[in-house]
Amino acid sequence: MSEKFRALVLNTAEDGKEVLPEFKDLSINDLPEGDVLVRVAHSTLNYKDGMILNGLGRLVRQYPHVPGVDFAGEVVDSSDARYKAGDKVILTGWRVGESHWGGYAQMARVKADWLVPLPDGLSTEQAMAIGTAGFTSMLAVMALEEQGVSPDQDGEILVTGAAGGVGSVAISILSHLGYRVVASTGRPENADYLKHLGASDIVDRAALAEAPNRPLLSERWLGAIDSVGSTTLAHMLAEMKYHGVVAACGLAGGPDLPATVIPFLLRGVRLIGIDSVLCPYERRVRAWQRLVTDLPAKRLGEATETVPLSAVLPYGEKILKGGVRGRLVIDVA
Ligand code: NDP
Repeated sequence: MSEKFRALVLNTAEDGKEVLPEFKDLSINDLPEGDVLVRVAHSTLNYKDGMILNGLGRLVRQYPHVPGVDFAGEVVDSSDARYKAGDKVILTGWRVGESHWGGYAQMARVKADWLVPLPDGLSTEQAMAIGTAGFTSMLAVMALEEQGVSPDQDGEILVTGAAGGVGSVAISILSHLGYRVVASTGRPENADYLKHLGASDIVDRAALAEAPNRPLLSERWLGAIDSVGSTTLAHMLAEMKYHGVVAACGLAGGPDLPATVIPFLLRGVRLIGIDSVLCPYERRVRAWQRLVTDLPAKRLGEATETVPLSAVLPYGEKILKGGVRGRLVIDVA
């Protein structure tokens, strides 16, 4: 195939440190090995994409590199029996966009094992409005449910990093399911937006960011979905109700956890880790099905902005500063 397509290619500068982005025309032969060739329609911007675009975290070890950890599009060619030309597919995780070329290109070639079929009821744009961030929110909600948390229990669910991607989608799903949701944000100007998504209350993230001054604080939360980590996670652990459940998703506030084990021992608090990258196929499919039924399309639309691939770079810097609200879709086609 001699077809040319547009791609964002990262290279390192001569000092080997600075990452230099460039929009280029590539051909199919430039793509890495894989069993399915996909024409990418939409990608997205996650926090991790921001890190990769700015050369942070040593996530990419080999350049030239095409970033974009998520994409959705249509199969052009497949040597794997599970997929044929014309099938619509989604890719999130598996370190695509990090150790394998990703979705900031109009074509991608990947392993069939990494794909899931686009579920009925979602467009490629909606799938990328969800993206890794929204998929992670669904996994976190499923984790709370599996631990016995339900909307008919008395109590509130805390969502931190609320105005970000994981937070915005988590609030939308939880409120649709009938939970009472409290959103923690450092951007009070987004209070109306968060209430519109379904938060019944807003708390200032500064209050939660203080390390707890005692191993146990007053019982406050039935469950929590945390994008922040560090002292914020330590603080909420000390505030969980008896048998409360925290789904730990992210580290926007830092990777450390300066906590004591007392909430686990005296209140039976449960801390569940959420990993979207290596999540097994069956669970992935289940989560995507749940996103069709339990995430209202209208709320998702309200939390999403779409920009062309040519405009992605400034957003990569913005997301690292906590400056992107909700979800950003990249129109690649
Ligand atoms: P976003 O940047 O969209 O959202 C993060 C939010 O966290 C911000 O919007 C902001 O919310 C808040 N925040 C930012 N900086 C700080 C800070 N210093 N202290 C406290 N809060 C802060 O990112 P995503 O939603 O895409 O990802 C959220 C986190 O989840 C990231 O750490 C990401 O790496 C992780 N993640 C993990 C996955 C997994 O598989 N476990 C998958 C996807 C993401 P506000 O303005 O409302 O305060």
